[in-house]
Amino acid sequence: MIEYNVVNRIWTRRVAVLALMSWVGWAAAGAAAQSGTAGTPQTAAAGASAAQAGNRAQSAAQRMRERDAAAAVPDRTMMLRGAYGPFRANNDLLYYHLTVRVNPEEKTLRGKNTIRFRMLKDGKRIQIDLQEPLEVDKILLGTKELTYERDSGAVFIDFPQTLHAGRVYSIDFYYSGHPRTTGRFGGITFKTDPEGHTWINTACEGIGASLWWPDKDQWRDEVQDMDISVEIPNGLVDVSNGKFVGKTDLGDGYTRWDWRVHYPINNYDVSLNIGNYVHFGDHLGSLPLDFYVLPEDLEKAKVQFAQVKGMLEAYQHYFGPYPWQKDGYKLIEAPYSGMEHQSAVTYGNLFENGYMGRDWTGVGISPRFDFIIIHESAHEWFGNSITAADPADMWIHEGWATYMESLYVEYRWGTADAIRYLDGYKPKIGNLRPIVGERGVNAEPPEDQYFKGALMLNTLRSVVNNDAAWWKLIHDFYQHFQYRNILTEDVVAYFNQHTGKNLTPIFDQYLRHAQIPRLELLFGEAPGMVMYKWRADEEDFAMPVRVGTPGHWQTIVPTTRWQWMQTALTKDEFQVDTDRFYVDVDKQ
Ligand SMILES: [Zn+2]
Repeated sequence: MIEYNVVNRIWTRRVAVLALMSWVGWAAAGAAAQSGTAGTPQTAAAGASAAQAGNRAQSAAQRMRERDAAAAVPDRTMMLRGAYGPFRANNDLLYYHLTVRVNPEEKTLRGKNTIRFRMLKDGKRIQIDLQEPLEVDKILLGTKELTYERDSGAVFIDFPQTLHAGRVYSIDFYYSGHPRTTGRFGGITFKTDPEGHTWINTACEGIGASLWWPDKDQWRDEVQDMDISVEIPNGLVDVSNGKFVGKTDLGDGYTRWDWRVHYPINNYDVSLNIGNYVHFGDHLGSLPLDFYVLPEDLEKAKVQFAQVKGMLEAYQHYFGPYPWQKDGYKLIEAPYSGMEHQSAVTYGNLFENGYMGRDWTGVGISPRFDFIIIHESAHEWFGNSITAADPADMWIHEGWATYMESLYVEYRWGTADAIRYLDGYKPKIGNLRPIVGERGVNAEPPEDQYFKGALMLNTLRSVVNNDAAWWKLIHDFYQHFQYRNILTEDVVAYFNQHTGKNLTPIFDQYLRHAQIPRLELLFGEAPGMVMYKWRADEEDFAMPVRVGTPGHWQTIVPTTRWQWMQTALTKDEFQVDTDRFYVDVDKQ
């Protein structure tokens, strides 16, 4: 039904345009329209192309993760996790001090989080989160024990007296138990390394930090800074986020490792990495670089992690200083591929270039660098420093980090290789549902947020069509929003304001619709001319694009209405610069 309607609409519009052109005196087009013979082959061609597009979408769908085909239907847990409800909105996080004892034998946690917050509205209740089966031991305001109600992952805490807007309060949330192991990287895993030593790691993006510690588990509000104190059996090492403060032997077989985070941090970035780690260090200027790996991987790591400096230089070139100078940069070996834990990136990419031994974009460029070092570290700028205020806007993390991979390639090897690298993303795209989904339900966007997000940004560079202006735009954009939590609308408003262009329909087409714009080209109505328009869901979609042949590109500005241009090129010769504009092309 849908394809039928699409074909029908194309044909109806085409007849209308041809009629109009006839009216303005373009005899050949008028004659074709009047003859009525153009209809059958035209409709067939459009039908064939719609079918091809359908086939493409279907084969892409087969490659996609199942959950990319449609957004998850939110359940109660997702609603309570995702909504920025009244008991979250009435307060602003200031500080956490998480103290946790990790028992590797029993696979249990016991600890407390001191949570300091400012009330924004008078109220007697706030929402903190802790997922079952972890237990709430007690919650204290000073010495007074507070009552609470648990509802799936949420813990609604009640105060005996009204907390007043503008005032700062602090509670101690005690908890214990066996955390669940679930989600992409396990959330928290109790493993042993290949030599049989304890190896415990966290990676909880998506499933949520409240899987292993009590916190305000949402994306909009970050603490301003944080202390992390981790008690582990003597002889093990804990590497968490921030600057290492010191370790203290507690005299009971456990040692406490203290880490201080000097900046705002996402909940899911807070991490434990407990193992038989050895350390080596370096500096980039005044920035400390610290590396923690298993002893047997030390020599490999010293070779592979040498890439860190070049990565930091490239990203600092485009966006400005590494965001966490006081906390330093760390890479920590972990038993999964990798994660962007703030100032403490975890690494499990086999100490090889590419991604888990593969050429990630299949065009021969990824084997030149370590994908995990380059991608996860990009998140220090986009994801950790600039953070989406809702998971629905997560392309701000993944689209930008993926685009930054291509900037790294461009910085090291030039524009042509960056374009090739980006082209390698196209087969990974599904175009099955919009990148920006429903807010407030903790819904994960489809994988298109990575590759399509990056190709959209590369397309915007071509729309700006002035590299010096583009480099300044993305640098200043990052600087403007660093350390802040933003939505897609903030990105679009900034880009509109600073380019003087209305880019909203372009952002919306790529982010809020499943399909990318399709440039429709009609040849053969008269010799030496081609008709063109965009087929897009956004009615005001009017994006420039380069057409012609490589080396002789010409910029046209199609809209969603037919226009025409003269060309000496035949249908076969006429090309669209799809390296620089991520669009579909339909030649008829
Ligand atoms: Zn990422």
